[in-house]
Amino acid sequence: MDNRQNTIDETLATALARSRNIAEIEVGRDVLRQAGQMCRRNFDADTALVFADEAAFAAAGDAAVAGLRAGGLEVELHVLPANPRVKPNVALASDFAARLGHGTVPVALGSGVMNDLVKFAAFQRGLRYFSIATAASMDGYCSGGAPLTRDGFKITIACRPPKAILADLDVLASAPRQMTAWGYGDLAGKVAAGGDWLIADALGIEPLDDVSWPLVQGNLAQFLAGPEDLARGDIGATARLFTGLSLCGLAMEFHGTSRPASGADHQIAHMWEMEELTHRGEPVAHGACVAVGTTTVLALYDWLMDLSALDIPATVARMDDWPSTRAQIHQRIASTNISQRAVREMGEKYIAGEALEARLHKLRDVWPALRSRLSGHLMRNAEMKRHLHAGGSVFEAADIGVTAEQLKATVYASRFIRERYTILDLLAETGLLEEAVETTLSDGVLQQASGG
Ligand SMILES: [Zn+2]
Repeated sequence: MDNRQNTIDETLATALARSRNIAEIEVGRDVLRQAGQMCRRNFDADTALVFADEAAFAAAGDAAVAGLRAGGLEVELHVLPANPRVKPNVALASDFAARLGHGTVPVALGSGVMNDLVKFAAFQRGLRYFSIATAASMDGYCSGGAPLTRDGFKITIACRPPKAILADLDVLASAPRQMTAWGYGDLAGKVAAGGDWLIADALGIEPLDDVSWPLVQGNLAQFLAGPEDLARGDIGATARLFTGLSLCGLAMEFHGTSRPASGADHQIAHMWEMEELTHRGEPVAHGACVAVGTTTVLALYDWLMDLSALDIPATVARMDDWPSTRAQIHQRIASTNISQRAVREMGEKYIAGEALEARLHKLRDVWPALRSRLSGHLMRNAEMKRHLHAGGSVFEAADIGVTAEQLKATVYASRFIRERYTILDLLAETGLLEEAVETTLSDGVLQQASGG
């Protein structure tokens, strides 16, 4: 491992020492043989119940089971078919929970969905679990939240992260390219999410913190550099990606919310996930949704105009009142479950009248500093698209079967589904959202912008 990797390893070790939930993360080559010893160190149990789907089991199952047995554990298996893809919902997690007894270590052998299911199942039974990662495909390995669907609404249920995580780099590097690209897309989203947090910080809505911000943003440019190495299965690049994703999870733990790793990019992705967006017959993966969410949001950042000319009284006068905002939410979100919840979320951040006027004055004051901070932090959209493309990721709405009209509708609706303040709120409160969206995301424009 080179120096770059050493610095990254130190960052991870320092963060891990601070974690109240995760005792050990082992990332390396040929590490599955350590599964049993790791289990012994971290869990008081004689039996491991391994949850996996067939694809993950084919990639790492035999070596993981041998490693667990080498530590003297009894191993039981619950392997689901890989097709159709396993769905992350509460009902299936509850079925997993019913299979868990005390004296058993739940083992999630797989990536995002399996991890989330076992996370919630273990939590329901008051157990800690062991995660054996098979792909660097998302940032949820270290996170305490399990994003699952219940009654059609995607909710992130507060659970606990795994107690121990084992990631074999040869397994990760030989995961389907597409899965690594999803992880890259999920990590790329942190560029946009960071912009949103900078805005919320500057407006006094949600301050940056000096622990989780640097964990996610401190090495981000380095983690996102060299996407072509990732696409060809380079071990060092895979290690950097996995570590970057792990740091995001730890940052969310320290912050207590997903703010450090999730902004409008993820809200757009969550809309598609709740709608169960499919493309060519397959559900579109989280990282693919985030990649497109990211280029969408960066397009809006590129557009963001000089706000110093903002006509504050006119903007306040034009703001939709709450009844018409609520009506818009119901109009833009077809599912009643989702729209009712969105009304509550939006109610938390909706402002008008004097409060809006005060905010716009504040915005005008902080804008020069905020603008230069944003331009120092953000990546131009064209550059982001080149990165995503080189990393093998999708980056246009069309790549996931979404038309420009659908994309715009999703952007409008996504603003409503979380109380979190993002660029979408800044644009809405300055009366510019529609102009920004229509100019940036209309048919053809997005495609043209992708040329570079
Ligand atoms: Zn994510």
